[in-house]
Amino acid sequence: MDLMEKLVSLCKRRGYIFPSSEIYGGLNGCWDYGPLGVELKRNIKNAWWQDMISHHDETAAPGSAPGSFGMVGLDCSILMNPTVWQASGHVGGFNDPMVDCRETKSRYRADQLVVYRLLAADSVPATLADEELLYAAPGEVGKTAEADLIQPHRKHVESLRKKLGELRLEPVLDALSDASLRARVLAPGAKEPGSLTAPRAFNLMFKTNVGAMENNSSIAYLRPETAQGIFVNFKSVCDTTRVRVPFGIGQIGKAFRNEINPRNFTFRSREFEQMEIEFFCRPEEADDWYRYWRDRRFQWYIGLGLSTERLHLREHDRDELAHYASDCADVEYAFPFGLSELEGIANRTDFDLRQHMEASGKDLRYFDDQEPDADKRRYLPYVIEPSAGADRAALAFLCEAYCEDEIGGETRTVLKLHPRLAPIKVAVFPLVKKDGMPERALSLYRALRTQFNAFYDEKGAIGRRYRRQDEAGTPYCVTVDGQTADDGTVTLRERDSCEQQRLPIDAIAAFLAARMS
Ligand code: ATP
Repeated sequence: MDLMEKLVSLCKRRGYIFPSSEIYGGLNGCWDYGPLGVELKRNIKNAWWQDMISHHDETAAPGSAPGSFGMVGLDCSILMNPTVWQASGHVGGFNDPMVDCRETKSRYRADQLVVYRLLAADSVPATLADEELLYAAPGEVGKTAEADLIQPHRKHVESLRKKLGELRLEPVLDALSDASLRARVLAPGAKEPGSLTAPRAFNLMFKTNVGAMENNSSIAYLRPETAQGIFVNFKSVCDTTRVRVPFGIGQIGKAFRNEINPRNFTFRSREFEQMEIEFFCRPEEADDWYRYWRDRRFQWYIGLGLSTERLHLREHDRDELAHYASDCADVEYAFPFGLSELEGIANRTDFDLRQHMEASGKDLRYFDDQEPDADKRRYLPYVIEPSAGADRAALAFLCEAYCEDEIGGETRTVLKLHPRLAPIKVAVFPLVKKDGMPERALSLYRALRTQFNAFYDEKGAIGRRYRRQDEAGTPYCVTVDGQTADDGTVTLRERDSCEQQRLPIDAIAAFLAARMS
């Protein structure tokens, strides 16, 4: 089993993540968080809210921000006036290119299929010979390992190697849009070439109808991002709070996208949760704020335990930028299925506020009453947008945490989650079910529960109880034993090192509190 399979199986076995409506066969792209998963995800969202919104000025490295700033939150409705999505450009342009395979009946996103040709290692790339076969494989140009692309064609590759010697892969760009090239593309799992259709634009927004009538005038969309709710409330927030530019508005909430090909567990889902900030600043300061948020968001993941070797900050090339963005970077994580986006940070200029100002006819310009220069008082702020996915973050933290090691000759599975993110912070056990141990353990458990998510377990051998908590990611276990009655101490066992120490029972709460921050 590879790491992903092991993780999916652990998530199901221990109640982290289940397929949605599983007893009816599930629903592609939808997932349910179980008792442990819901705690993990809530801890991630709480950490984000505390660090970015409520304590944003305490959690940043001192002096790193271009200036002081405010942060407030919002919780907008998922259904909005459909004109929002006209103005934002989503109705016209929120499309992915879709491709179908007539032979295998599979559906792909054209930009997630690499089409390549096999060449003798030393041959100079020239025009394609008419009879030359092209291969399509799930993946992305430049991101997918050659070995993975070749894998399904091993036999054919071997026979070609015998004829041509070493082989190399050359991506053939735009092969799917060109009918004559497409006819020569062998689709994944297909026997005959030419089974793929030309890419068609597919709008990712889910449509529904509001009210009793189902007609064109009742169409509404499930929001595909939380950001637009922030833009359309910009003026209300300015009018009702004391915030002054520069400031940010944050929102956590569900978003929906009818993804063509949901895959990689929860990574690409059709229903997911976003954690987004729209940060409003003066246009001339936008470059500084962009760099600030890009670096601060990158560091946030490291602070919660993602390793710097697996995290990657990828600045977009100029030709990759959306037409409204002047800068964009992705925080990427090396998942077992490849380097993939956790979060995007973009300088969206004044594009969104301007679109909504024009479409609604409402003046959305900010008024700075303290600006001495009268010409500069009214303006449309620029927006820096750090847009993160709570589910992708949860998946990255789980992948990073998953570990199998050997303790005392026995292998164990352990989730080395950061204590702040761990669903259960502490488990309390009586060593055995007699001599007053359960009573003492229960009373400690009840006291700890007022501060931390705690768990009580008195069943089975102590070693097994420890290992169950290791698998659930619980950072500390406390055991009440015979000595507790004599001197008021308990054993505290640490998850990652398995080290044990004796502490006074009254010192446990303070010990845990110090490690949860
Ligand atoms: P991708 O290129 O992977 O489709 P995107 O660039 O379209 O993602 P954004 O529109 O920038 O994504 O969305 C911001 C964040 O929302 C992403 O970084 C990701 O964390 C999250 N997100 C987007 N789509 C999904 C999805 N289908 N499932 C889970 N999370 C998602």
